[in-house]
Amino acid sequence: MEQDLSRGLLAFLDASPTCYHAVEELTKELLGNGYQQLWESRPWRLAEGGSYFVVRGDSTLAAFRVPCRDFRGFMLAAGHSDSPAFKIREAAEVASPGNCTRLSVEPYGGMIMRSWLDRPLSAAGRVMVREDGGIRSRLVNVDRDLLIIPSVAIHMDREVNKGTALKANTDMLPLLGGAGEPGRFRRLIAESAGVPEDGVLSTELFLYPRTPGVLMGIDGEFIAAPRLDDLQCVFGCFRGFLAAEAGASVPVLCVFNNEEVGSGTRQGADSTFLTDVLERISDSLGRSAEEHHAALANSFLVSADNAHALHPAHPEYGDPQESPVLNGGVVIKYNANQRYTTDAVSAAVFGQICAEEGVPVQRYSNRADLPGGSTLGNISSAHLSVPTVDIGLPQLAMHSACEVAGVRDTEALVKAMTAYYGKSLRTGPEGIEIL
Ligand code: ZN
Repeated sequence: MEQDLSRGLLAFLDASPTCYHAVEELTKELLGNGYQQLWESRPWRLAEGGSYFVVRGDSTLAAFRVPCRDFRGFMLAAGHSDSPAFKIREAAEVASPGNCTRLSVEPYGGMIMRSWLDRPLSAAGRVMVREDGGIRSRLVNVDRDLLIIPSVAIHMDREVNKGTALKANTDMLPLLGGAGEPGRFRRLIAESAGVPEDGVLSTELFLYPRTPGVLMGIDGEFIAAPRLDDLQCVFGCFRGFLAAEAGASVPVLCVFNNEEVGSGTRQGADSTFLTDVLERISDSLGRSAEEHHAALANSFLVSADNAHALHPAHPEYGDPQESPVLNGGVVIKYNANQRYTTDAVSAAVFGQICAEEGVPVQRYSNRADLPGGSTLGNISSAHLSVPTVDIGLPQLAMHSACEVAGVRDTEALVKAMTAYYGKSLRTGPEGIEIL
């Protein structure tokens, strides 16, 4: 199971160079499993026993199943489809010294820039094209070794190992090729999209590392790959979502774009997407507003986003008591200032579900004098106020072009989410029951 899951995760990472491709992969698998695609612009006619999904902005997805009209609540989980990367500008080609052409790029999210140096890269994303009198979205993946961002040689930068600053506007422009006629990159993209050059209206393209993910370590215990944050959690939650048995609540998997840039977009966690989806589920099944609010009171959200494992060279950055380790199990994240949403209630509920399944759980807290990151949970809570737990899988080198995680942790998450999605909650004056 562990090996199969790891191979499945590697295949998913490999097929998902951008958020658009990740959502496309989930879409294909949902359709293959008999899920019906809904469109936000058309009426929803849901039926008991039905399985559905909806996509916004080609990069955010919600999938759910309707066990019965009288469902108790929503068992939700959310991860994110995007990762830090360099976005390629529309006016892409830059004639550069040394008889070279480079591409104009801009960082999307906060990445470890030096990790992008000296490795083969390519370009992928989506383009809008003119077709049949309308405007269509097309996914593009050049899918060959195309670009590289070369370092400055140590002979010219003797201080490089003492931490040379890198500037996004000069140091990080990838080399496309020698000097030549302008427009070659645009032509390549049009060709990849299968349209004439003037058919490309606009682009959202990103660089991605070409090196495929691998299983490694003396016992094959680690996975090293780009975009483990957060596609490892997306994959684990998705597997659990598909495998779960029907319970008395609606299982919902949500994968948001734009977490890495603050979520404040129409397809980010700070949008109405998830609340829109839940309201439309209730409306379509003829449930009243009163019933919808009662269902929300019996709902729960797992916000799943990778966590920092204790770094072997720098344990001083971790909290001495609450630092997770690779292959130690699912991480519950805590923060006194509620940058993570976990509270006593949500930790107890999720911890209980894991304990019943024998899933190992670890705790993460930032070292108390460091601010740490934030994630989807508290942003989503502003729109959808249900008990929420922030969890993740432990990893090293977060936001590097190649991150490291534990293979056993993927399995732990799948097990936890398979159990979670089959449950429902009954919340009342006497407390909470997990059913
Ligand atoms: Zn993340």
